[in-house]
Amino acid sequence: MSDTFKAILVSRDEDKKQSVAVETLSVDDLMEGDVVVNVEATTVNYKDGLAITGRSPVVRRWPMIPGIDFAGTVESSEHPDWKPGDKVILNGWGTGETHYGAYAGKSRVNGDWLIARPESVSAHDAMAVGTAGYTAMLSVLALERHGITPERGPVAVTGANGGVGSVAISILAKLGHHVIASTGRMSEEPFLRDLGASEVIDRAELSEPGRPLGKERWAGAVDSVGSHTLANLLAQTTYGGAVAACGLAQGFDLPATVMPFILRGVSLLGIDSVMAPKALREEAWARIATDLDAAKLARLSTTIGFDDIIDTAHAILDGKVRGRVVIDMAK
Ligand code: NDP
Repeated sequence: MSDTFKAILVSRDEDKKQSVAVETLSVDDLMEGDVVVNVEATTVNYKDGLAITGRSPVVRRWPMIPGIDFAGTVESSEHPDWKPGDKVILNGWGTGETHYGAYAGKSRVNGDWLIARPESVSAHDAMAVGTAGYTAMLSVLALERHGITPERGPVAVTGANGGVGSVAISILAKLGHHVIASTGRMSEEPFLRDLGASEVIDRAELSEPGRPLGKERWAGAVDSVGSHTLANLLAQTTYGGAVAACGLAQGFDLPATVMPFILRGVSLLGIDSVMAPKALREEAWARIATDLDAAKLARLSTTIGFDDIIDTAHAILDGKVRGRVVIDMAK
């Protein structure tokens, strides 16, 4: 077996001009860690698109192997929790940002960052879910903790065709919620209804500056868009409802007022997947194993090979990717 493997490396020159190349590396070239994992599957998240194109400052150490998540098998370990052959998942913890990430045949990481892959979830399916889907589940868990049951009323999902949005719709529908999907791609309405959306609305309804309070339309929301969209979601949430905010596809600003909070007791729930504690990650992955329909996951994901990663990174930022993309490292 060859000890070398392909890796995508992003670099910066003296003028901070970013470039990306495919290099051949060995384990000795990797960063410090106590577990070496053979990467079997990974994915392209929005954040990976930012890292590869340099459109936003995601990478904080140069050069960097991007890729914020992977599924694989432990090759060697000096960590007490892991032994060769263990099936693992990694999401976040700065991989692909400050620590060499997933776009390489092997990755050396801190064993504390890994979680065991549930037996019923294959490496491929774990990455069809990926950080986007795991974040969707964190958002659903946050709404549940806030008492948002199907009886309370509809749940809105923005960025519906994206990775977070499409998985959120699938999970919420399976749990019995009436899901209102908001999208800029109305032509994808049949796809969104197939995932479980009961209503599909044009995102233009939410993306422009709105009133401090509007008609109460949903008891909860999963928002991967931010900006005016998040402000309008809050303004149209029913009394005592909640919005889980996890993304910024429209913008990182929040041009809102306090009116939904102080007149309707609406809550804004912040969702972070990167530094989420291990127990919460394990809960989210256990729930993914039971509450995400495998057939729907197959319909919302496409599989490509290592050589397609860079093109896909550009496509995701241009809003051209539907659902989730899985990188099969053997392809
Ligand atoms: P995707 O690119 O797959 O999906 C984003 C979706 O947002 C698009 O498909 C599109 O959906 C919609 N969208 C794009 N541009 C705009 C715009 N200008 N205005 C309104 N809607 C827009 O990305 P992901 O689903 O992977 O990630 C979504 C967001 O969540 C990103 O901002 C990402 O950084 C963030 N994120 C945060 C995490 C966390 O830990 N908090 C973890 C993972 C992701 P449509 O075509 O249906 O309108």
